[in-house]
Amino acid sequence: MKRICVYCGSSPGNAPEYAEGAKELAKLLAEQDIALVYGGASIGIMGEIADAVLAAGGEVIGVMPKSLADKEIAHKGLSELIIVESMHERKSMMAELADGFIALPGGLGTLEELFEMLTWAQLGFHQKPCGALNINAYYQKLVEFLQHTAEEGFVKPQHQELLLVEEQPKTLLQLMQNYKPRIIDKIL
Ligand code: AMP
Repeated sequence: MKRICVYCGSSPGNAPEYAEGAKELAKLLAEQDIALVYGGASIGIMGEIADAVLAAGGEVIGVMPKSLADKEIAHKGLSELIIVESMHERKSMMAELADGFIALPGGLGTLEELFEMLTWAQLGFHQKPCGALNINAYYQKLVEFLQHTAEEGFVKPQHQELLLVEEQPKTLLQLMQNYKPRIIDKIL
């Protein structure tokens, strides 16, 4: 994998572990020569991971819509900052640039972006791995809810398994690198 897209909070969260986990992932990305693709902000966990990849000598590509460049305070020191017209353009460019997707703890924006990639995967629009880094068990209730969606017959178990969930960044990266896509039709 040459580039990984990380979705994460524009807020820092309430526990120091969130930023610490982001920094740990950042170090690994730089060490393994994997560029970070992200939303381009300098705030919250988004800012933390970008700063940490840069500090470790890695490459960071930010993608931000014009309308958010002030609000989310575009990061001024990235390897590359791509300014686009709309949120849709931002998300599709991030998806195209990356070979896989990781959600770190985050809010509604993070969840929306992660679920867009999961739903595209279940429709076979891409075959790239999708992971969640379960820092501080942040995603535990989501994992349980996904189990519920499968038990209630709304999500196929194989589609529920599209989300790779791990606590350790190293293990998650390894799982993503070994990922073999299985295309299971959503409808049939
Ligand atoms: P959040 O997790 O809400 O702090 O947002 C993290 C990032 O997701 C920010 O850069 C948001 O601009 C971005 N984002 C992407 N899609 C959306 C969306 N549909 N609604 C809100 N934020 C979004």
